[in-house]
Amino acid sequence: MSVGWLFTDRCGGVSAAPYEGANLGLHVGDDPQAVSANRAELSSRIGGPGLATMSQVHGSTVLTAVTAGDIGEADALVSTTPGIALVVQVADCVPVLLADESAGVIGAVHAGWRGAAVDVVASAVDRMQQLGAHVGAMQAYVGPAICGSCYEVGPEVVEQVGKVMPCAPGRTSWGTAAVDLRAGMRERLERLGIRSELVGGCTYEHPETYFSYRRDGVTGRQAGVIWMR
Ligand SMILES: [Zn+2]
Repeated sequence: MSVGWLFTDRCGGVSAAPYEGANLGLHVGDDPQAVSANRAELSSRIGGPGLATMSQVHGSTVLTAVTAGDIGEADALVSTTPGIALVVQVADCVPVLLADESAGVIGAVHAGWRGAAVDVVASAVDRMQQLGAHVGAMQAYVGPAICGSCYEVGPEVVEQVGKVMPCAPGRTSWGTAAVDLRAGMRERLERLGIRSELVGGCTYEHPETYFSYRRDGVTGRQAGVIWMR
């Protein structure tokens, strides 16, 4: 069994403004046919697995995917099934992909500040361990998201995220309170015993490359995608 993974961006695709490019989100007001075409293109680009998506609600529910399609309301998908690709959709929130390749267990996690505060990644890791994964053998990939210099937040967010991710609170480039969710996520993973790699840049700062909800409001979604073959 081998694991493949990638983080998409908005480049390519057939969606029109304000979703222009490769929007993968069906729930954001884009033409469903354009989204279907973009999803089909993604599937074909990674060798044809069906896409397993979730309806993300900023919680800590983990669902196990055994087929492609909409798996349900959750913020993490895990799987031991080859031939399907787990998809986490984002536009500033942190997409985290997890794999224990030797055990044949993968996961995809959606973690904005609410997900960070409810420690959704730990719930996903728990479920992966129940499916036979070992933290020492797991690798995590932390994808493109709004960075700590851009992500201005209020004091309640600093407090709630800081409880779970003590290194996340910081300052924006203009000096106001912020959280660096990607740094916080990597710290959290390290404390769980999982090595991680940071992939891609700041979604807010790169309008040509990434969708950003904070920047644009009505916009598309890019994705983290992981699969086994
Ligand atoms: Zn930034």
